[in-house]
Amino acid sequence: MNILIFGPNGSGKGTQGAVVQKKFGVPHIETGVIFRENISKGTDLGKKAKAFIDQGELVPDEITIPMILNRLKEADCAKGWLLDGFPRNLAQAEALWSALSAENIGLDYVIEIVLDRETSKKRIMGRRLCATDNNHPNNIFIDAIKPAEKDGKFVCRVCGDERLSTRADDQDEAAIDKRHGIYYDTKTGTLAAVNFFKERVKVLDVDGLPGVKEVSEDLLKKLG
Ligand code: AMP
Repeated sequence: MNILIFGPNGSGKGTQGAVVQKKFGVPHIETGVIFRENISKGTDLGKKAKAFIDQGELVPDEITIPMILNRLKEADCAKGWLLDGFPRNLAQAEALWSALSAENIGLDYVIEIVLDRETSKKRIMGRRLCATDNNHPNNIFIDAIKPAEKDGKFVCRVCGDERLSTRADDQDEAAIDKRHGIYYDTKTGTLAAVNFFKERVKVLDVDGLPGVKEVSEDLLKKLG
């Protein structure tokens, strides 16, 4: 099962990606997570990627494309994968499509979470990361996943961890605007990549505006 998931930063793509991952049991490959892990481990890749990420720019295709294509060749991907955060522009979409076509690998689902720019931005700024597990959803602006409160402080709504933090690039409006500029760009950006797939395979549109639970239900229904 090979799946792509698209959605602007702040659309709940990570949360819904986890739902898809659970349904199909394929590895959830998140480009942003791979970069952040490399940054925290201080690898060469991390050092190269950091300045771009801090400014909300894409890490250059020469770094990102081979990194992901190699990742898809690892043993845990033999039965499929869920790619999240890649492709992020038209060039990456074309590179992925030609790498897959060359090996006769198809795409089973392409999912697009649709959400307007203003709402996405607000959701990004409310996002809180749990130190125990990045995939514990916490957002101070979304009632359904609002962190719990303890002694007047926000704590993780899933595990109660008090160590909730923000991502530096989530609180920087200029960086958010840059990331959204890339996402909503229909000429060469992420929406251009989505349109590239719309011309080739069926893309499942999911409205990202309702609550997390409603979006998951709609998504699971569409996945059959
Ligand atoms: P994310 O966690 O998906 O918001 O990604 C965080 C940052 O990692 C982005 O703002 C980019 O700087 C970088 N990044 C993630 N995915 C890609 C990609 N496919 N191509 C280039 N840079 C990326």
